[in-house]
Amino acid sequence: MQTADLLADSSGREENLLPLVGRTAAELEDLAAEMKQPRFRGRQLSRWIYHRCAGDFDRMSDLPLTFREELKRRFQLGHPEMLQHLRSRDGSIKYLLQYGDRVAIEAVYLPFGRYVSACLSSQAGCAAGCRFCATALGGFQRNLTAGEIIGQLLAIQSDAPSRIGHIVYMGMGEPLFNLDAVIQSVRLLRAEMGISVRNITISTVGVVPGIQRLAEEGLPVTLALSLHAADDEIRSQLIPTGRKWPLAEILSACRTYYERTGRRLTFEYILLEGINDSPEQARALGKRLAGLPGNVNLIPYNPVPGAPYRRPSSSRIQAFRDELEKMGRAATQRMTRGLDVNAACGQLRLQAADLPATNLALSAGARQ
Ligand code: SAH
Repeated sequence: MQTADLLADSSGREENLLPLVGRTAAELEDLAAEMKQPRFRGRQLSRWIYHRCAGDFDRMSDLPLTFREELKRRFQLGHPEMLQHLRSRDGSIKYLLQYGDRVAIEAVYLPFGRYVSACLSSQAGCAAGCRFCATALGGFQRNLTAGEIIGQLLAIQSDAPSRIGHIVYMGMGEPLFNLDAVIQSVRLLRAEMGISVRNITISTVGVVPGIQRLAEEGLPVTLALSLHAADDEIRSQLIPTGRKWPLAEILSACRTYYERTGRRLTFEYILLEGINDSPEQARALGKRLAGLPGNVNLIPYNPVPGAPYRRPSSSRIQAFRDELEKMGRAATQRMTRGLDVNAACGQLRLQAADLPATNLALSAGARQ
């Protein structure tokens, strides 16, 4: 059986039941009142959902049985189904998750020693079309709702060993193409799960109107810009949306973001051998960013099958970094996490669509 069939067969979710994940504690109190329960039952419900990450109503032992039964008849919690999880030797865990309509996405648990982060998807698939990205190869399916975004975190947290306190929107999709839902999910993270907005990073391909709107929202998340080149010509070869929004406009929107929120930016730069990794390009990058506060995060390319790129050698990466630092620009190098579990954005789902299910199950088992 193809894994695509497995994806289609394995969803036990009732599509017609309304999800509770995504509702605020106040909305859950209203719901309890509407169901002729005291309002505090709604607060209890929200604690089960957002603090204890309960995946089913039967666990909610301090709620009266009749209330639980009625909830079950009318609602579902709305956790995505966990189709697969692959553990990397470095402790990161990559999840393939599926919603009730059988749309699959990826999310990752990332322990960093002092803190634990989760990488969430904002859309199923992506329409940005970046040439080096595995998600782009799979096309765009649909936007995720705020509840579906938070559902990823709850599903991971209910499975994962340590408490997740940091969130990065760096999974599948372009968050600023689904900004209403992303903003609502950030508000839920803050209000219902107690996650500080300062511990949240939203990564964008550079959607100028989205950056401008985010600057006005009063939610000082860290904005990460996927820069990947210092000039428009190379950038728009790698990132098709670069033709719509040139770098000058993107960086000016980033400046506005910094001025409004006081948050330093992160500039992501994937190093692709022979394309954007020369010392001259490092100097051009340093110049381009002059006066804009923020670090450059160098990302060694994570190979995607079929894509025509290679990761540069460590000495070339170091030389690029040295050049930037000479110009006074702090650069960090992102550790490649979970390379052995296909951690590049979108790779797991691509595999799930192509490979026989038995192969996937085997590779998952072998790595646990
Ligand atoms: N659409 C958003 C967020 C999702 S991608 C964005 O473009 O920022 C998150 C990050 O992973 C981006 O910086 C993206 O460029 C990077 N990325 C995608 N494919 C990659 C690959 N194969 N190797 C390394 N980084 C990759």
